[in-house]
Parts: sequence; C-alpha cells; structure tokens
Amino acid sequence: MDAACARRWLGEVAARLAAERDFLTQLDAAIGDADHGVNMHRGFTAVMARVADLDEATPGQLLKVAGRTFVSTVGGAAGPLYGTAFLQAGDALGDAERFGPRLLAEALRAALEGVQRIGAAAVGDKTMVDAIAPALAAFELELRMGGSLETATCGAREAAAEGMRATIPLQARKGRASYLGPRSVGHQDPGATSSALMLAALADAVLADRSRRFAGGARRPGSGP
Ligand code: ADP
Ligand code: MG
Repeated sequence: MDAACARRWLGEVAARLAAERDFLTQLDAAIGDADHGVNMHRGFTAVMARVADLDEATPGQLLKVAGRTFVSTVGGAAGPLYGTAFLQAGDALGDAERFGPRLLAEALRAALEGVQRIGAAAVGDKTMVDAIAPALAAFELELRMGGSLETATCGAREAAAEGMRATIPLQARKGRASYLGPRSVGHQDPGATSSALMLAALADAVLADRSRRFAGGARRPGSGP
C-alpha cells in the first residue's frame, strides 16, 4: 500500500459516505440526534479538500491531515473519536512511503486504541468499537494464517459488517444512545455502520490497487519487451 492507495481509500470512504449519508442519519435518528450521516459527510468533504491540496505526502501524513481536519470540522462524539483514530493510525505508519499488511495491522490497532482511550467503550457497548475490534482481530488472524494484504482486508471487511449487524440487539452503554437505556435495543448503531463502511472501502482500495498493478504489469503477446 502506498500514498496513491491511501488516497484511493479516502476517496472511496468519501463517496460511500455521500451515498449513505441519509441512511446513517436515519440510524442516528432512531437512537441519537439524527446527525451522524451529516457529521461524517461534512468531515470527509473537508478531508478530501485538504488532501487534494497536498501534492507530496506519505500515507502517514495523509492520515494525520485527515485526522486533524476531522477533529476541527466534526463535532459530537464521532469527530474526536474518528479524528483520533486517523491521527493514531497516521502516527503508526511513520514515514513509510509504502507498507504491507503488518504495518497496516499496527495502524488499525493504533486507531482502535485511540478510540478506546478517548471513548472508553468495550466490545458489546454498541459503538463503533463493535465493528473496529472484530475487524482488527480478523485482520491479524488472517495474517497469522499466512494471508495477504488482500485477504486480510477482506476478512476485516466481513468481520466489521458482522460486528455492525451484531449491534442491533444490544443495549447501548456509551454515548448518546445509552441515555435511551433498553429503548436502544433493536437498532443498528450508526457509528458501527460508518466504521464498517470505512473498512469496506479499505478492502475496495486494496483490491483496486492490486488489479491496477496486474493490469500495468501485463504484456500483450507480440507487443515487444
Ligand atoms: P453524537 O452522538 O455526539 O451525535 P455522532 O452521531 O456523530 O455523535 O456519532 C454517534 C456514534 O458515535 C455512535 O453511533 C457510536 O458508534 C459512537 N460513539 C459514541 N460514544 C462513543 C464512545 N464512548 N466510544 C466509541 N464510540 C462512541
Ligand atoms: Mg448523533
């Protein structure tokens, strides 16, 4: 993965957030204050504008800019939580121009730790942690089993989607939804949904990167050296 792939990931997240903005807001209307889709879309629109202004940037720098932009443009719970996640992930990547699945796993772990340091949510509290933690576990398991960047990101995508769906029967114990007590049961958590969206976008960006590399490396028969 390199800076181009990181940019592709951010662009994919922005596109998906634009498409899912109203859905995320509907989810937040049921157990929150109906602003999650709007918050995320505003934040990522600002991120894309900032990132477009940066010509030369390492993947780590891109994520740190995304994190700072998110913190300054998104209020509520999601702004500082995702902002910290991006900042920590960017820090974990350091100055690397390109990186493989092991460093990406460290970045995901740093992101999760950042979210948990700020928000103190555990798995089962019905938050974004319910999507991110199983995604990281699936990613690391896949690597231990000899998997690649592609299979690990796909495993993370599936685990995040499962974790997102698993928030439906839970009662919220953190954030605004927890004020509803048992009335939060039966609704999918908006933050777990946006996290699953980001992990799906990551798998897409990595797979697109691979097919581009294959296409670029292919030679037509008889087309010379
Ligand atoms: P707000 O709740 O301030 O309106 P958003 O609607 O943008 O902020 O985000 C709500 C989401 O934030 C929730 O669905 C949940 O996933 C996540 N969230 C809230 N509190 C926490 C927390 N303490 N730790 C992790 N995630 C949290
Ligand atoms: Mg809200």
